[in-house]
Amino acid sequence: MTSWLRFLSGCCALVCAAAPVSANDGMLRLSNDVYLLPGSFVPGAQPDGNSLLLSGDTGWIVFDTGRHVVHARRILAFVDEDLSRVAAIVNSHWHLDHVGGNALIRERFPNARVYASPGIEHALGSWLANYRAQLVAMVDDPKTRAAEREKYRVDIGLIDLGERLLPTEPITRTRNWRIAGRQLRIGLETDAVTEGDLWLYDRGSRVLAAGDLVTLPVPFFDTACPARWSSALAGLEDMPFVRLVPGHGPDLTRDEFTRYRHAFDELLACAASEQTLAQCADGWIAQTGSFYPETEHTRVREMLDYYFSQHLRAEPAQRDRFCTQAPTAG
Ligand SMILES: [Zn+2]
Repeated sequence: MTSWLRFLSGCCALVCAAAPVSANDGMLRLSNDVYLLPGSFVPGAQPDGNSLLLSGDTGWIVFDTGRHVVHARRILAFVDEDLSRVAAIVNSHWHLDHVGGNALIRERFPNARVYASPGIEHALGSWLANYRAQLVAMVDDPKTRAAEREKYRVDIGLIDLGERLLPTEPITRTRNWRIAGRQLRIGLETDAVTEGDLWLYDRGSRVLAAGDLVTLPVPFFDTACPARWSSALAGLEDMPFVRLVPGHGPDLTRDEFTRYRHAFDELLACAASEQTLAQCADGWIAQTGSFYPETEHTRVREMLDYYFSQHLRAEPAQRDRFCTQAPTAG
């Protein structure tokens, strides 16, 4: 069971696909030609990851496309307002809250190139297939409430897109790119948050999109190898960015990212120590609490409780199930 399902509770109104969408709805300008569409992560609903939009000379580059239709429609409305098109999609990783809008955007802009790790193909035959089976069982369970059932069907529909979620440009190593006229560096981290995680550094704006290598209010360990994730964060520190856009949560300055990275490493060290969960959660909140409202603290503790029991403090075989490679240096 994923944490996304684990933490769904209370009001479960699905984000309304038919809601009117205005072009600048929720869009934040990070520099003169780079915009952030914040994702949502509210109790009772499945999350959307953040999307970063970069203007290029032949159209927009969209880094991550959210999960829900309304998120992708916001991207399309924004691009329409600009009388432009989507030239390229870059997906940070295969989680549905980052690739869910791909199909809608590609339907509208069939020539858009899709840059992503080929790891999604493996995920479709393994993790996502298992997740789909769980969702189908819950949809079929007569005890499942109608609104919950609808929510599960959204994810089943996304998984059933199958090949339409695959990249046209599989990324298998870190290298520089020129896409839509922009000078980019796309990095590949393996076995960090997922089998293959991409980050994107834009030289023009010095904005770094980190995908779920940085998430708030807590790291999402569902498919992660924590030790390699830590190494990936150390590598990000070497990039000359001035703003970092996480997969979930507000954009961070360099100093804020450094604080996040240290909090991450201390969380792993705490989990490996004799300290209690409450002490570890206190430490995490002390260092990262300014990145989210105080009303989130209860949920932070609940999520860390789940991740400690299911991942960080689970039996070694379970704890390390996504660590298929030796830890990287640093
Ligand atoms: Zn995510």
